[in-house]
Amino acid sequence: MIVKDIRPRGFCKGVYFAIEKVKEILNSKEYPKPIYVLGYIVHNKFVVEELKALGAITLDDLTKSRLELIDDINSGTIVISAHGTPIDVIDKIKAKGLTLVDATCKDVYITHDLIKEYLKKDYDIIYIGKKNHPETNASLSLGKNIYLVETIKDIETIKTDKKIFVTNQTTFSIKDILPIHEAIKMKFPNAIITEEICNATRLRQNAIIKANSDVDLCYIVGDKRSNNSLNLVKISEKFTKTKTLLIQSVKDIKESDIKAIRVVSVSSGASTPEYLTKAVIDFLDNYQS
Ligand code: SF4
Repeated sequence: MIVKDIRPRGFCKGVYFAIEKVKEILNSKEYPKPIYVLGYIVHNKFVVEELKALGAITLDDLTKSRLELIDDINSGTIVISAHGTPIDVIDKIKAKGLTLVDATCKDVYITHDLIKEYLKKDYDIIYIGKKNHPETNASLSLGKNIYLVETIKDIETIKTDKKIFVTNQTTFSIKDILPIHEAIKMKFPNAIITEEICNATRLRQNAIIKANSDVDLCYIVGDKRSNNSLNLVKISEKFTKTKTLLIQSVKDIKESDIKAIRVVSVSSGASTPEYLTKAVIDFLDNYQS
C-alpha cells in the first residue's frame, strides 16, 4: 500500500497560539485559579483532555449558551477559545470580575474588524458561515444587521434596501463559497464581497485537491466538531471524488476499509495534534493485508 502524507496539515498558528496560551497561564502565578476555558479551546477532544490533565477546566455543554456556561463561575480566569466568543459574553465575564484571557485567532479578528468597519458605514452584512459554530456566533454578535448565510437558500430570505458587505467564517470551504458569492451577486449586484478564508484553511484544502488525483481512500484525522476537518472531508469527496473518512485517531481505522486499498492519503484538520496523524501514517505504512 502506498501512503501519501498530505502537507500542509495539522496545527495552524492560531491553534498553536491558543493551546500555548492556556499552558502558559496554567504555569503562571499571575492568573487567578481555577483556569476555565470557555468551550473547546480548539475543536479536538485530545487537546481538551491534555489541557484537563494539566489543570484546565473546559466549560462545555452543547445544550447551554456561552452566556449560561459562565452563570455559576464566580472566581478565577476564563480563556476565550481560538474561535472567539460573542461580545455579551466578554461583557459578562468582565462584569463578574473574572480575569479574561483572549486566545481568539488574529485571523478571526480581521473579519470582526471588517464587519465593524462596514456596520459603521451603515452597510448590512452577509456573513457566510456554519450555524451555531462559536466563530459564527461571535461574528453575529457584532451588530444587529448581520445576516447568516450557510447555503444559497438562505440568501432568499434576506430583505434589505441597504448597501451590502459580504464576509465569511475563516474555515469555510474554498469551493463552496464561490457559488454562494455568485448567488449573492445575482441578488445584490453592488455588494462588496471579501473572501476571508484564512491561509491555513486554504493551504490545507488546496493540498488535498492536489494530492488526491489518484488515491483510493483518504483519511482526515480530526474531531467531529472541527469545522475545518469536516470541510477537508467534503472537499476531498466532492472535488476529488475520493472516498474520504474522518477518523479521530488510529483506533478508528477499520481493516475492512483498507484491505483492498492501493493508495491511501492522510491529512488532518488545523486542530489535530501531530502525534495523532503520525500514528495513523505509521499504522498504514506498516499495514500488510
Ligand atoms: S484555522 Fe485559521 S482562523 Fe482558525 S485558528 Fe487556524 S489560522 Fe486561525
